[in-house]
Amino acid sequence: MPGSTFILAIDGPAGAGKSSIAGAVARRLGMTRVDTGAIYRSLTLLSLERGLTDGEIPALLTDLDLRFEGDRVFIGAREVTAAIRTAEVSEETSRVSALPAVRAGLLELQRRLGREAAGGAVMEGRDIGTVVFPDADVKVYLTASAEERARRRLLDLEGAGTHPKFEEVLASIQARDDNDRHRAHAPLRQPEDAVRVDSTGKTPEQVVDEIVALVEVARAR
Ligand code: C5P
Repeated sequence: MPGSTFILAIDGPAGAGKSSIAGAVARRLGMTRVDTGAIYRSLTLLSLERGLTDGEIPALLTDLDLRFEGDRVFIGAREVTAAIRTAEVSEETSRVSALPAVRAGLLELQRRLGREAAGGAVMEGRDIGTVVFPDADVKVYLTASAEERARRRLLDLEGAGTHPKFEEVLASIQARDDNDRHRAHAPLRQPEDAVRVDSTGKTPEQVVDEIVALVEVARAR
């Protein structure tokens, strides 16, 4: 569609490197990264803090004042960039994001963020290419073996000062994948028209180059 915002959809399982790859691709191409996981995480953080039941969570959407400043995430004036990344929030988000009213409620917000993204949107999530933007200009399904994803997550957690066992991190990644793949609404799956990019054994630069090349080809069409 001439004149409409260019949308690159990057879906894939937890720990595949979506966030860092999406950020780097967006910087290289002058596009805006939209981290949809951060939206689900922020909603979950609020619901945990307020002790809400599942039935009460959708009401939070009415006045959810969520803002992104680059990679930083704010709810109102409060920065939640670190608070939404704890293991507790990760696990609870996987559950909360399976609620149909939550998914439906966040659809329009995600579409608006994509449409309004300066320079085009690099949208990362689980169902961008299947549900949020089924007509995305380029769709990538970014994956890696579960062991590789757990190794990377362990390094992140160690960098943040916690030292869980490898087996625990692997089990948590597998549990989250299982929830995301088997939920009834908008489960994680590879869109039929997506390019599968397996990052196992590749450097982040190689993966970024591969995706940038896909976008450049699509833009030249
Ligand atoms: O990408 P990230 O790991 O931050 O996502 C956290 C959780 O949010 C995922 O495990 C998934 O359950 C949920 N999510 C989703 N749909 C998206 C993005 C994230 O269900 N588009």
